[in-house]
Amino acid sequence: MVFMPKQVFFEPKATEYPLGEELYNKFQKLNIPIQKLSSYNKLDRESSSPSEFYAFAKDSIVVGIKRSMKLVPCKPSADYQFSLVTGCPGSCQYCYLQTNQSLKPFTRVYVNRDEIFNNIQKYIDSALPNITTFELASTGDPLSVEHLTGSVKSAIEFFSTSEHGRLRLVTKFSYVDSLLDLNHNGKTKVRYTINSPYVINNFEFNTDSLENRLDAASKIYSAGYPLGFIIAPIMIYEGYKEEYTSMLESLRSKIESPDTAPITFELIQYRFTAKSKKVINERFPLTKLDLNEETRFKKWGPYGVYKYVYQKDESKLLKEFFEEKIKKYFPSSTIEYFT
Ligand code: SF4
Repeated sequence: MVFMPKQVFFEPKATEYPLGEELYNKFQKLNIPIQKLSSYNKLDRESSSPSEFYAFAKDSIVVGIKRSMKLVPCKPSADYQFSLVTGCPGSCQYCYLQTNQSLKPFTRVYVNRDEIFNNIQKYIDSALPNITTFELASTGDPLSVEHLTGSVKSAIEFFSTSEHGRLRLVTKFSYVDSLLDLNHNGKTKVRYTINSPYVINNFEFNTDSLENRLDAASKIYSAGYPLGFIIAPIMIYEGYKEEYTSMLESLRSKIESPDTAPITFELIQYRFTAKSKKVINERFPLTKLDLNEETRFKKWGPYGVYKYVYQKDESKLLKEFFEEKIKKYFPSSTIEYFT
């Protein structure tokens, strides 16, 4: 799917950057209502309910400037994370952004790309002679608005000539055609988040279908990019083993030479926190997500809050199930972690 916003907001000075000007002209030609903001903090809708405000924000794009240049670590995925986009027009009910960006669930794109890349170069230089890896998808889905910004393309081009920098990103969107002919030099790893039809149909709205994600992943792989898959959130429900097995079979049918494909898998079981449960219930009062703490194992998380995961015996069974299936369908792959 290709997302088009219903309204766009521009932060002060955003149009002074080439990408800001380009986006302004693009949205004007598309007759999409544009509003200039005096500040991002002023963007609010006091009179609307949480679910109305959420829907409004998800239909909007904010064009802004990334101010803070301090990069935070991003273990185990990469050394640091950075953003060209925060938020995402998708509406996955379990999304970590429900809590991280609970007050302003807007998709915000940054136009000062050169400043962002110059800053990354400083981090790379300060870690020489080591390789430094950067995650582009920690605060949103960068490919979700690629058809509008072209920012993933510019990041791939920046890293393609970097001797000591590497880029990683994760997505549920299939807009990859503009990336296929790039001279990426194998410096960017693309991972697709995939899931069973039950999870996608019930909880992942406004994202691409499994079929489209697999087709896009297949194109990325054929274009020579290092490729990985994140299976998340893994859920236990009636028929889950059959659905996850058939998902892996479909994936196998799309990947060239699957027996020798050096792809990677990251496996993340479904979890929620007390805070995410509150926000999810406000935004999606009819959600089918299982948010019952009593049947879960309470685990202390790295961000200083408890998370609720499957009981230890259930999670052990899940881990064994995926290890066995992945080994069968992709014998040359690596499972990076199960959590
Ligand atoms: S696609 Fe990713 S970032 Fe977007 S709503 Fe879904 S989980 Fe969140």
